[in-house]
Amino acid sequence: MGSIQFLGAAGTVTGSRYLVTSDKKKILVDCGLFQGLKSLRLKNWDKFPIDPSSVDAVLLTHAHLDHSGYIPRFIKNGFRGKIFCTAATIDLCKILLLDAAHIAEEEAAYLNKHKRSKHQPALPLFSSDDALRSIEHFQPVPFDESIALDASTKFEFRYAGHILGAASIILEVDGKKIGFTGDIGRPNDPIFFPPKLYCDRWPGALIFS
Ligand SMILES: [Zn+2]
Repeated sequence: MGSIQFLGAAGTVTGSRYLVTSDKKKILVDCGLFQGLKSLRLKNWDKFPIDPSSVDAVLLTHAHLDHSGYIPRFIKNGFRGKIFCTAATIDLCKILLLDAAHIAEEEAAYLNKHKRSKHQPALPLFSSDDALRSIEHFQPVPFDESIALDASTKFEFRYAGHILGAASIILEVDGKKIGFTGDIGRPNDPIFFPPKLYCDRWPGALIFS
């Protein structure tokens, strides 16, 4: 019996994380940071609801930090699997995750220097080394190709036109199809093609966006 848990982006738009659990696999779709108000950002420090080492794979829709920015912390806390996404998303994540780490390190250094934190010492959510290590887990996948994780679990990335490399993901588990739009682009855009509507090839899919 499978299930979907909404571990973020519920009641707020950041912290996109969906956990899909089947008899054989645990798959996290997106691994985003909570951003914005301090009360939301503090949630990034919460213990993850399950042991990250028990998750088999991450499927990442796109590189924006509210979808990808928790990855270094997730790995630091035990995740050992692969992160599947498009090649362009990997290129962007190399820049964005390292930049986020650098900002967090600078903030922690500032707070420590000026003794502005109640934590001694203040620490970054993740370091530049954590960000670099996380890149080793990324595995590029092409658009429009069905990838099988095992006999009963497969997924496909579809062009979403939101930013470079952005995808919607259709995950099929035990014969059930679940669509995750990620963030999707516009039908008329000067740079990007229109998002591919996956419903045409996946009638009956349950869709979350
Ligand atoms: Zn986005």
